[in-house]
Amino acid sequence: MDLTVENHSIPLSDGNSIPLIGLGTYGDPRTTRKGLTYESVKVAIEKGYRHLDGALVYFNEHEVGQAIRDTIADGTVKRDDIFYCGKLWNTFHPPELVRPALEKTLKTLKLDYVDLYIIEMPTAFKPGDTFYPKDENGKLIYHETDLCATWEALEACKEAGLVKSLGVSNFNRRQLELILNKPGLKHKPVSNQVECHPYFTQPKLLDYCKQKDIVIVGYSPLGTSRDASWVNLKCPPLLEDELLVSIAKKYNKTTAQVALRFNVQRGVVVIPKSFDPSRIAENFQVVRSPRVSVPR
Ligand code: NAP
Repeated sequence: MDLTVENHSIPLSDGNSIPLIGLGTYGDPRTTRKGLTYESVKVAIEKGYRHLDGALVYFNEHEVGQAIRDTIADGTVKRDDIFYCGKLWNTFHPPELVRPALEKTLKTLKLDYVDLYIIEMPTAFKPGDTFYPKDENGKLIYHETDLCATWEALEACKEAGLVKSLGVSNFNRRQLELILNKPGLKHKPVSNQVECHPYFTQPKLLDYCKQKDIVIVGYSPLGTSRDASWVNLKCPPLLEDELLVSIAKKYNKTTAQVALRFNVQRGVVVIPKSFDPSRIAENFQVVRSPRVSVPR
C-alpha cells in the first residue's frame, strides 16, 4: 500500500488504523523544561504528525493533552485526526486498578478517550500510586501479575468507550501467546511496542507479529536518547554508524531519516522523540518523499 503525508496510516486488526510515524514524548522529567513538551507536540501537529506516543509515567501527559486540545480549538485538527497512545504502568496491573489508571490518563489529558492503550511492560511492580516502589535497600519491589486478568480489565475499558484499540509493549512471543490463547478472548492486541532500529531489528518478533496481524511500533527508532540511567553508553551511537551515514550521503538524507525509513519500509511504525522543531520536521519527512510503500 502506498502512503502519503495526508494519509500515512496503516490498518489495525480491529478495523482502526495507526499513523506510521508518531512523536515520542518521553523527556527526562528532571532536565526537561516545563512547557517544552507542549511546544513540541504543537509544532509536531502543525508539521503534519497525527500520532502522539505518551504515558502517565512520563509526567508530561498534561502538556501533551493541552497541545492536542489547543490545536483542536484553533482548527488545525479535529479530535478524529489525532491518534494518542497511552500506557498502563507497572503498578496498575491488578484488574481493579486498570480502569482508574486509564481514567487518570484521560483526566490528565482532558480527553474523552485514547486511541490506543497498551500494557507498558509485562512485568509488574507493587501496586499503588508510587510508580517506582523500592525496598529499604533501594531495590524495586516487583509483584506477581496475571496478564490475562489485566487484559480482561482492558477489554472492559474498550467496551466502555474509554479506548478505541488495545495493545501491549515489551512483550515477547510467549507473553503475546498468553493473551492470544486466553479462553474467551474478546479483543486481540493490535500492536506491540518494542525497541526497534537498525541495531536491534527484531526479525523473529516481527515475523511472528505479522502472522498474527499485530503491528510492531518501534520505540527508540533513532537508537534511544542515550540516557545513562538505562542505556549502556559504551554502545556505539546508531546515528554515527558508518553505513547509515554513507547511505544518507548517497540519497541526500540525514542519518536519522535513513534509520526511520528502514523501519517504515518494513511496515514498522516509528515514534522518534524530538523536542527540537527542526528535528521534529526532519523526522516527519520520512513519510513525505520518496513515496512510502508498505508491505501488507
Ligand atoms: P529515540 O526517539 O530513538 O531518540 C531520541 C533522541 O534522538 C533524543 O535525544 C533526540 O534529541 C534525538 N533526535 C531526535 N531526532 C533527531 C534527529 N533528526 N537527528 C539527531 N538526533 C535526533 O529515543 P526514545 O526517546 O528512547 O524513543 C522514542 C519514544 O519511544 C519515547 O519518547 C517514548 O514515547 C517511546 N518509548 C517507549 C518505551 C516503552 O517501554 N514502551 C521505551 C522507550 C521509549 P532532541 O529531542 O534534542 O531532538
